[in-house]
Amino acid sequence: MNYDEIMKKVKENEGLSRRDALKMMALSPVAASVLASSAAPTTAEASSDAKGKVVIVGGGGGALMVLSRLRRALSKPDITIIAPNEKHVYQPGQIFVAAGEYEPEDIIFDNTGYIGDDVTWIKDEVETFDPDNNKLMTKKGTEVAYDYLVVATGVQYHYEQIEGLTADMLGQHGIASVYQSDLAAGTAVGATITRDWFNALHEAAKTSKPRVICTQPSTPLKCGGAPQKILYLSDDFLKRDSLSAEFTFATAGEKLFSLPEIDAALHKVQEGYGNITNKFGHNLIAIDAEKKQATFLHKYQEQGEYDKDLEEYDMIDKEENVVMEYDFIHIVPPTAAVDAVANSPLAWQKGSAKGWLEVDRETLQHRRYKNVFGIGDVCGIPIGKTGGSARHQGPIVVGNLISVMEGKEGTKKFDGYTVCPLKVSYGEIIMAEFNYDGLAPSFPLDPAKPRWVWWAFDLYMLQPMYRYLMLNGLM
Ligand SMILES: Cc1cc2nc3c(=O)[nH]c(=O)nc-3n(C[C@H](O)[C@H](O)[C@H](O)COP(=O)(O)OP(=O)(O)OC[C@H]3O[C@@H](n4cnc5c(N)ncnc54)[C@H](O)[C@@H]3O)c2cc1C
Repeated sequence: MNYDEIMKKVKENEGLSRRDALKMMALSPVAASVLASSAAPTTAEASSDAKGKVVIVGGGGGALMVLSRLRRALSKPDITIIAPNEKHVYQPGQIFVAAGEYEPEDIIFDNTGYIGDDVTWIKDEVETFDPDNNKLMTKKGTEVAYDYLVVATGVQYHYEQIEGLTADMLGQHGIASVYQSDLAAGTAVGATITRDWFNALHEAAKTSKPRVICTQPSTPLKCGGAPQKILYLSDDFLKRDSLSAEFTFATAGEKLFSLPEIDAALHKVQEGYGNITNKFGHNLIAIDAEKKQATFLHKYQEQGEYDKDLEEYDMIDKEENVVMEYDFIHIVPPTAAVDAVANSPLAWQKGSAKGWLEVDRETLQHRRYKNVFGIGDVCGIPIGKTGGSARHQGPIVVGNLISVMEGKEGTKKFDGYTVCPLKVSYGEIIMAEFNYDGLAPSFPLDPAKPRWVWWAFDLYMLQPMYRYLMLNGLM
């Protein structure tokens, strides 16, 4: 699909604002190449006469991407969607709201237009799944039976697992979290709270050198780069006005990024700032908001005795509590699958993915319940908690689901595609694209290099592409 064809589709799909269209047009040379590549993974979905009742649970990006493709692919679709949210939050835009580049209304739009009249929409949430009997129960007490199920319920944040912290404390005492949102209500207060936090930090830096901590938890999280996006953008927000602060990046992980090329590039970015200290192996466990103290569980290893037989030193696991003082803290919450999934037979019952949806990492089909599929953040697979991953998963899920509906085996395979646009300053992004095998850049460009073109693409084009193309299953 080329740029002109995409623009035609965009224009036909009413509602594109003039402002967005102009921005897209202005970037047309970039758009032409980027869109051509981005459209590549779309799988041809042959029209199918397969029958059966499909229930999709969730109303976020993953659910809508499956819904739109399934409606097109089935000649007589019988689809029910169970999702509470009439409003849709474009979550990647929460960072741009925090950074002052978007307004809150740029990232919230109606879900209604994506759910056609031919679809039964139950505006409720699933309370329990009963996959042994192909049914589920909603919170309001409706029992829903299905032949095929797609689970797209995303994640749940657990701020309460940090002692002394509750979600309503965000925005006070120098505490922010860009993640905070209520998807059922269609709100994302974390974005504006973090914008206020940027401004308060800027104000404080005029008269002092504030101590700032940005955290990253030990759990899987959606958009693994977001904790560092806030770190670099808030630092640059000061730097642009010749202000400064002392930044600490306290992460439960042992690296800035899992891939060595990107990890090295991020260390270089930090050297450029010159005011960031990394605390690896530090997991935030408690907050004293009044005293502005954060307590971390620091896990590390110490060298023990030399083992002559093994010809190596014994490594001893150690842990200690470390208290750090701060003036401002940005907290990324511990994250898990939503309770309805985590507490159900659909979840992995043990292992590192315990509680997440037990799907095959390639086919996205449930490993035990073959009429169940998963898409998006809820999936218990090694990587892939991004909207970009969901976009690549959509054709796989729909293709394999239709095969199963037709009595065949699903053969389409998700390669683990994940994209992390690391905003390393205002105006520059490292576009980290990778899959199960390692780096997987869409373009023959050094993926570890910060580039303006990715900033422009992310800021101006991704939102309309997501809203008008991806959610409609057009790319
Ligand atoms: C700050 C931030 C920055 C990000 N940046 C990027 C980025 O730059 N690039 C990128 O690709 N991705 C990014 N992401 C990640 C991206 O937004 C998610 O990966 C994507 O939205 C996942 O889609 P999903 O459908 O799996 O989940 P969601 O979009 O979160 O949707 C889950 C849906 O399930 C519903 N639900 C929950 N429980 C139930 C229930 N029991 N019953 C029924 N419905 C239920 C919810 O109401 C919601 O509608 C970012 C996310 C955040 C928070």
